[in-house]
Amino acid sequence: MSSRLAYVIGHRNPDTDSVCSAIALAHLKNRLGNPDVCPARAGEIDAETAYVLRRFDVPVPELVEDATGKDLILVDHNEVAQALPHVDQANILEVWEHHRIGDLHVPKPIIFHCEPVGATATLIAEQYFAREVAPTRAMAGLLIASILSDTMSFRSPTTTDQDRRVVSRLEPVAEVDAQALGAEMLEIKTRASEQKNARSVVRDDFKEFLLGDEHVGIGQVQVARIDALAPRRLEILDEMRTLRAERRLAQVILMVTDATTKSSDLWFVGERAERFERAFGPLQEGIVRVPGCMSRKQQVVPRLETVYSRT
Ligand code: MN
Ligand code: MN
Repeated sequence: MSSRLAYVIGHRNPDTDSVCSAIALAHLKNRLGNPDVCPARAGEIDAETAYVLRRFDVPVPELVEDATGKDLILVDHNEVAQALPHVDQANILEVWEHHRIGDLHVPKPIIFHCEPVGATATLIAEQYFAREVAPTRAMAGLLIASILSDTMSFRSPTTTDQDRRVVSRLEPVAEVDAQALGAEMLEIKTRASEQKNARSVVRDDFKEFLLGDEHVGIGQVQVARIDALAPRRLEILDEMRTLRAERRLAQVILMVTDATTKSSDLWFVGERAERFERAFGPLQEGIVRVPGCMSRKQQVVPRLETVYSRT
């Protein structure tokens, strides 16, 4: 066992799953006898994560801004564009993931655990069960909150039976009612979204992907009503154009998702709009409504990838 400090860390623009899975996995490693593992975050936490950490009385993890020379355990991402700067100069020890296999190259064999479940937290919870470590009330709470956040309280098509089983098993430990907690989190998240300036709306949950031969950025914001952002359409589309120019992206897409009606409006700026329209239908003033669409990784990225790699 090394005495070097290892950080467990999620993606940039961290969400609840990224932050809380890092905390819970670090905690598990500590409990299994490795004290030199600590949780970290790759950016500012959002209103929902702040609420969850406060609610279960867990401190905000340390901010790490550069991967150079660090020992890292990655959770909730494995694409270079979503990782800390200079991730190629880090020593990656493990990856715990539920997204598509990305472009991260590691020069030696490591634990790379990826399953198509609703949240990384589901996999971390299953590790507690497999290792027979009883999660504390706080860790159980963070794991439940992460699963509810990523699956939009089981409404997202990414939800699996594994996610539901883990939540039912952890509910009595966390002493929470998952349905009530999910409703509270959704309210905080949607209220925060609607108060955000255009910059935050576009950038707070923004990920970059290589689709076919194009670099595409896809943001997502959750709202209480699908047309909540309509009055600010021009300002938000302008911000999307600014971000596209800044990052030299071919296209920038914003998913405006209403979990209660299970649908998203996709907002689009960029070149070759006809390819996007082939995937999702005709844009009207830069927007197309897609009923049933809630998941960036399962519904938007694969559909674009299919169309863009063919044309
Ligand atoms: Mn995430
Ligand atoms: Mn996740």
